[in-house]
Amino acid sequence: FWSHVEMGPPDAILGITEAYKRDTDPKKVNLGVGAYRDDNGKPYVLSCVRKADQRLIEKQFDKEYLPISGTAEFCERSIKLALGDNSQVVASGSNATVQGISGTGSLRIGAAFLNSFFPGNKVVYLPIPSWGNHTPIFKHAGLDVKSYKFYDPKTCGFDFAGAMDDIAKIPERSIILLHACAHNPTGVDPNPQQWAEMSALIKKKNLFPYMDMAYQGFASGDIDKDAAAVRMFINDGHEIALAQSFAKNMGLYGERAGAFTIVTKSKDEAAKVLSQIKILIRPMYSNPPLHGARIVNEILGDKELRAEWLKEVKGMADRIISVRTKLRDNLKKEGSSRNWQHITDQIGMFCFTGMNPQHVERLTKEFHIYLTKDGRISMAGVTSKNVEYLAHAMHQVTK
Ligand code: PMP
Repeated sequence: FWSHVEMGPPDAILGITEAYKRDTDPKKVNLGVGAYRDDNGKPYVLSCVRKADQRLIEKQFDKEYLPISGTAEFCERSIKLALGDNSQVVASGSNATVQGISGTGSLRIGAAFLNSFFPGNKVVYLPIPSWGNHTPIFKHAGLDVKSYKFYDPKTCGFDFAGAMDDIAKIPERSIILLHACAHNPTGVDPNPQQWAEMSALIKKKNLFPYMDMAYQGFASGDIDKDAAAVRMFINDGHEIALAQSFAKNMGLYGERAGAFTIVTKSKDEAAKVLSQIKILIRPMYSNPPLHGARIVNEILGDKELRAEWLKEVKGMADRIISVRTKLRDNLKKEGSSRNWQHITDQIGMFCFTGMNPQHVERLTKEFHIYLTKDGRISMAGVTSKNVEYLAHAMHQVTK
């Protein structure tokens, strides 16, 4: 049956980790993986998560199936985290929210729903570049994918004029994907004024905003600040789709906790939308996993754990912000005459350094530093111990 199946290419990012593992040089550094590391380069489990885990053991919950849409309490706490405790949308019940399988699974459910029910042009416009998984997620669900300008290689910053030009050309009633904060892979976000202008244009063109929020709190250390774009779009009267992930901000990567929401006009509309999302989920995986959502629910629902989480998420964001400064300072010390301002301007997990594939190849071959060919480094892999070595290597390959 299977002799016609050809070998597929390995996953670009996971392949880098494999190569890193094979390297026996003690100086090796892995800047490919998008997972937080502490200042010793080790995976980090938040203390609030350890405590929530402990409480869950003590509560002796059963292991029965969740409903198709997941835990209602988790869904409500998740969407309130995104939209704010005083959200009118949540108070009026006009959100249809389901528990998803982390950010990826939530995006995929939304894609399936749009493919079945979006009344306009079933094309999703992605920023250039975007997270590598966006295109396959939407295509797999049957939607077409096109793009709009976002990143300017000349400034290593946001191409606001280019984005506005391209968005103005998108056919009315299409879908536009927006990274809510900490754009991956570039770390480049619109400022509040630019967001406001984009929101107005998207409204004028009758586009449907699909917001991907994988880094709430992780970008600036402030969960409200990072949710500002999402809340602005809601205040501007957009009906949005929203995918949330707790992988980064709670360090729950493998627990696969996330949520998907469609904001509708009324409670009645939301109930109908929710019923259809459930019909789409049922044949895909029946119902979502228990444990990760229980941890999130415990943390968001308990004053003490929530306060501890807010401190810890800020701690992660602050460490990343501080290594950005250290990297820039060390490049200067090395004598680099390049402008590395963007290292500290960009935010979140990643830095789009502006290094080209030749630079990256030399970093890996000569210095045992592993990263994606597009020059993206995961700032989470940079520590106070390896930052000087990294700056030295970056200067050597770019001078
Ligand atoms: N969207 C973006 C932009 C991301 O960077 C990620 C994580 N790399 C995700 C969604 C989803 O990740 P997960 O499925 O692990 O929650």
